[in-house]
This record gives sequence, structure tokens and C-alpha cells, in this order.
Amino acid sequence: MDCIFCKIINGEMPSKKIYEDELVYAFMDIEPTVDGHVLLIPKKHYTDFMELDDDIIIHMNKVRKELTKMLMEKLNVKALSISFNYGDSQVVKHFHMHLLPNLLISDGAKNTVDEVYQIIKK
Ligand SMILES: [Zn+2]
Repeated sequence: MDCIFCKIINGEMPSKKIYEDELVYAFMDIEPTVDGHVLLIPKKHYTDFMELDDDIIIHMNKVRKELTKMLMEKLNVKALSISFNYGDSQVVKHFHMHLLPNLLISDGAKNTVDEVYQIIKK
């Protein structure tokens, strides 16, 4: 299967990893909408949110709570939006959740992905 996110999970494509466990993987978006734009994906290939099993939804909810706290603390922000797309607006057809610090109160990414990654990984 020619899926860029499956390749990232399998280590065939590089990524800036934020978190990983047996079920999910989180990494920096390479084209961030805002500083600290992180993608959280299930390791199993689900095309979109319609396919998700209840178990993975529950697990992703737990992980996104932890990642939200961690990102807000490290980036020193007081707002974070979580979203996902479906249908034509979903670019990569492997379900992914966007974690977007300060989405509604910033006017876009100001730093490079690598600069923000260094802050998050400290
Ligand atoms: Zn995939």
C-alpha cells in the first residue's frame, strides 16, 4: 500500500516523532498551520474516521489529552484546537488528528518545524 503515514510508522520515511506506543504514533506536521502542529495517527491503517474501532477511539482520546497538556506546557500557550478532516478535504487517506496550538488566536506558523521540535523535545 502506498500510504505515506504507513511508511512513516514503518520507518521508511523520516518524521519528527513526538510520541509512540503500540497503537498510535504522533509527529510534527511538515507543513504546519501553526507552530507546534502535531499529527496523531493510529498505527493500523484506517482510511478515515468512519472506519475507526471504538477501542482505538478511546485510546486516541487518552493520548490526545496527554499530548494536549504536554504541547500547551512546552509551548507556553493557553489554547489548542483538535480537528480531523473527512472526504475531499482529507489529504492523506490514513486517519489523522490535527493538534493545533493557538489555532484560533495566531496568524500562522512563525518558526521552522525543527525549531519548534527542539522546544517540544526538551
Ligand atoms: Zn496508512
